[in-house]
Amino acid sequence: MQNTRKNEKILVINCGSSSLKYEVYAMPQRKSLGKGLVERIGSENGHIIQKNSVGKLEKTASIPDHSTAMRFVTEALTDDTYGLIHNMNEISGVGHRVVHGGEEYSSSVIIDNAVIKAIKNNSELAPLHNPPNLDGIRATMEFLPEVKQIAVFDTAFHQTLQPAAYLYGIPRELYRKYKIRRYGFHGTSHRYVAAKAMTMLKRSPENTNVISCHLGNGASVTAIENGKSIDTSMGFTPLEGLMMGTRSGDIDPSIIFYLLDRGYSTAELNTMLNKKSGLLGLSEISNDLRDVEKAALNGNINAKETLDVYAYKIRKYIGAYAANLVKVDALIFTGGIGENSVTMRHKICEYLENIGIVMDYDKNREIGSNPGIVSKNYSRTAICVIPTNEELQIAVDTYQLIYGVNFVDRRKTVEVIL
Ligand code: AMP
Repeated sequence: MQNTRKNEKILVINCGSSSLKYEVYAMPQRKSLGKGLVERIGSENGHIIQKNSVGKLEKTASIPDHSTAMRFVTEALTDDTYGLIHNMNEISGVGHRVVHGGEEYSSSVIIDNAVIKAIKNNSELAPLHNPPNLDGIRATMEFLPEVKQIAVFDTAFHQTLQPAAYLYGIPRELYRKYKIRRYGFHGTSHRYVAAKAMTMLKRSPENTNVISCHLGNGASVTAIENGKSIDTSMGFTPLEGLMMGTRSGDIDPSIIFYLLDRGYSTAELNTMLNKKSGLLGLSEISNDLRDVEKAALNGNINAKETLDVYAYKIRKYIGAYAANLVKVDALIFTGGIGENSVTMRHKICEYLENIGIVMDYDKNREIGSNPGIVSKNYSRTAICVIPTNEELQIAVDTYQLIYGVNFVDRRKTVEVIL
């Protein structure tokens, strides 16, 4: 029998090198009780802000490390006025976002010593992300030693990719020696919105194919066949694929050798491709799509071209993935840009009619930033706008793993929990 429990409080943690985002959910109701953010960890003027339905709490203090950050979090969580809970022992599980699960993890897991070791080993593949994720896990364990901690990996959803999709055409030795292959990221978001689309379209994942576009500051497209990821645009690192806010996405690798020969250092090129490219680099205006759209409206040619490049690359991926699926039942837009930019959604879909993806431009304009279906009734593919919620998905996974509630393989799953 399933051990379903009512009104359990799940803490969700997303820890970066200098920041710690958190949110508390009441489960299985999926109700957010509030969230907070610690910034500038490692500095004298660290900052914590927490919001609930009553108001917000804010504090600036020296926060030298993640353990101190966690102490501030526990104080804020149990604050008399703006707290999210009364006592830390109300927390019955903690879900951590972990970026890289390598080839070891194809789903979320309860953290034990072996998992910690694997996250550490995978730090080589995600040196900027896995170490702070581990810092967050250790700090939480210090304050909640008896509570189960769960790791939810960005890469896990894409572990169903077949070799045809994950191998690069380079010497196989590099895969054997260094595990160089496509891993893919944003998995928790793609999984969440794909499940939401099932509810929206009243379909079951077993016979539904989806192309999901997560367009935020980071951006990726994923092809999902019968509930399983079969290809995704990010690769060995989150640099591959679409052009993003500041990341280049796909380029000819020879450009790097060409620039190395002209005196650029590897560190400079790394910064250039990760932080100075994309919308920012090409528009020379901003990494924020809103700024680029505004400039384009005012006649700025660079901005117009940047929007064209951005949409063109997304269409290329949609076309490529459509060619690898027998049918496409849904095209999903999510992420800050996918959820909000009416004009970018319009631009992307303009050329997709001949592959059966027909947008209703009026509906697209009318829904604006709301969720909904924006395709014509006769479109073979339903076009869905769905806000992502990775934190909720992490809370769901955590609740599921702790209480053994199997949300995954029941038909009505998605409707019940998402
Ligand atoms: P995210 O990383 O998902 O928070 O997405 C951030 C991106 O969403 C930024 O590039 C913003 O420009 C974009 N964005 C947010 N709101 C809007 C909007 N109303 N119109 C266009 N882009 C938006």
